[in-house]
Amino acid sequence: MTIPEHVKKILGTLNREGFEGYAVGGCVRDAVLNRVPEDWDITTDATPEEVKRIFGRTLDTGIAHGTVTVMLGKEGYEVTTYRTDGEYSDGRHPDYVTFTPSLKEDLKRRDFTINAMACGLDEQVIDLFGGREDLLRRVIRCVGTPEERFHEDALRMLRAIRFSAQLNFDIEPETWRALCGQTENMRKVSRERIFSELNKILLSEHPEKLALLISSGMGKYLDISAEELLCSEEIAALPKQKHLRWAALCSNLSGEGAGAVLHSLKSELETERRVLLLVREMKEKLPENLPQMRRKLAAIGPDRMEDLIILKQFGFGSQSSEQEVFCARQRKAAVLEAGDCISRRTLTVSGKDLLKAGVRPGPPIGEALDYLFQLVLNEPELNEKNVLLQRLEEKRRREKE
Ligand code: ATP
Ligand code: MG
Repeated sequence: MTIPEHVKKILGTLNREGFEGYAVGGCVRDAVLNRVPEDWDITTDATPEEVKRIFGRTLDTGIAHGTVTVMLGKEGYEVTTYRTDGEYSDGRHPDYVTFTPSLKEDLKRRDFTINAMACGLDEQVIDLFGGREDLLRRVIRCVGTPEERFHEDALRMLRAIRFSAQLNFDIEPETWRALCGQTENMRKVSRERIFSELNKILLSEHPEKLALLISSGMGKYLDISAEELLCSEEIAALPKQKHLRWAALCSNLSGEGAGAVLHSLKSELETERRVLLLVREMKEKLPENLPQMRRKLAAIGPDRMEDLIILKQFGFGSQSSEQEVFCARQRKAAVLEAGDCISRRTLTVSGKDLLKAGVRPGPPIGEALDYLFQLVLNEPELNEKNVLLQRLEEKRRREKE
């Protein structure tokens, strides 16, 4: 496997100073698979103090856990001292960590065999737990005894499903049995970490692996009404956008139900709002004529309209034929290209104009603007100040009669 120059530089410096240094974990796994690693993590027998002394520019990222970030140019590389984890009395974090001079001990604490490989400057992979074989067999297997490893840290169960979705791997039977046996421990994991893993699964190449949450029995501990989730393979066809994929997953729920799921997972508000809106709107038909399209664009905006069309195109929400989807897309483009008024901001009449024209301040202004906006959404060519004021005058006259 090939190690990037920056990483080689760090490993070389460590070696010259008399320390061991290896690329480790996810980057080795990805490089062996010919995937591009997101980041390169480094492990060493040098203590954090020694790492800081050797490298000029460093940041104290997680000193307590032995992690120092070494800066090369604009990029940072996490260099972590070999360590073993102490007892896990809370099922989440080790009570303490101990630095060790042994690479083997450090690899042993890692979650899965495919994540427990290291690679030195010579580009030889050090694989003490059969990680390469598991990559070939395409399985996720715990390092050591699965029951113990999941008991130490319940998040690993969700990580197992996450890696199976990202890599399209199976979970090895013994690891799977252990996982199914202690899903209840998911209660100990924070909502934020659960949400982060669920997002990684949902945004992976194989989001349908979310079905494993349900078949393992984990769903009920995640505050998501698992039986109602739609873990369909079609989700993989959607663009990798959080709100789109969550909306698809929650399409059998009500808009409020979907919003509540995201709320309980401590989603950022923006995603929660988008998903709620999309799930609600997906149950309706797509706009079937230009006025309907303008009204919908005015209500939800062009971006959410496009989301809705995409969701329908891939079969989510109430059924829409290919023809209906095609026409909706054309209508949306037509309205936007024509520059039709779909926002009160581009209405040619303002509240001030209405005051001048003798409309009473307060609610009557709002009502009049509303009336004119609806007129313009139906007939965009009416959006001229004189025309609209005249229409308003006619309406008042009619009402007096
Ligand atoms: P990604 O591509 O998502 O970053 P990764 O394998 O790098 O995947 P990280 O969460 O960045 O995953 O963790 C880096 C490494 O640390 C893992 O490869 C694994 O060796 C180890 N690790 C991370 N979390 C745990 C955990 N909960 N239990 C045991 N080992 C872990
Ligand atoms: Mg990583």
